[in-house]
Amino acid sequence: MENALDSLDEGIERFLLNRRPSDLKYSVLHIAQAVELFLKARLVREHPLLIYVNPAKAGDDQKTVDFDDLLGRLIAAGVNFDKSTLQDLRELQRTRNRLQHHRINLLEETVRSQIGQGTRFLEGFIEREFEISLKDRLSKGSYTAFQKAISSYAESLQLALAEMQDDLNSLAESVRRKAAILQCDFCGNGTIIYPDPTSTAFNSCDVHCYFCNNRSTVINCPECDELTLGGQLCEACVFILSNRAL
Ligand SMILES: [Zn+2]
Ligand SMILES: [Zn+2]
Repeated sequence: MENALDSLDEGIERFLLNRRPSDLKYSVLHIAQAVELFLKARLVREHPLLIYVNPAKAGDDQKTVDFDDLLGRLIAAGVNFDKSTLQDLRELQRTRNRLQHHRINLLEETVRSQIGQGTRFLEGFIEREFEISLKDRLSKGSYTAFQKAISSYAESLQLALAEMQDDLNSLAESVRRKAAILQCDFCGNGTIIYPDPTSTAFNSCDVHCYFCNNRSTVINCPECDELTLGGQLCEACVFILSNRAL
């Protein structure tokens, strides 16, 4: 179990670090290993001899079951997996084997999505089977960053909006009433709060986007006085002025 948790932590850490291509490679290797170790731990709980290919001959250098047998025995023992999960888990192990035995370059998108599937499975599995909460194991920042990193665009946006709402709710009523939601000039989502609840400086004009993390400065539009980002005229004024010029 400790090894399984170590692999999971290491896999997530590498994924968040993502400074070199090898980080992603080791991340997927660790996550795949964590999946195997947690599944084995679950089977051992059923009976310690069950992880051996031949339980009757169990000894020090006995062979343990391969991944497909591991899944088969868990299913026989009553552990439920849906079809797509089984497919994802097998795919993840195949990737692991290919990375271990061949010098191959995998598409980054493929690896990212497999890491996402593997950890999403583990998050639910270890919560159900071992009462281990991934959320509690990681710092709030790492957990959120990780969730975002493994999510699709639509899911990431939902997460960003939920995080934004949390921060809004934590503001004092008087502050919240005056807060404005602005459209990010980088990603185009309405995911900026002004004044920024995460800013530590008092009365700061600096804001960040909850979705894409872009930082920007809020000013009043020199033409119409509306709040706008990036030290420029607001979009409405840009539009009016450009049409006037024609
Ligand atoms: Zn943005
Ligand atoms: Zn304006």
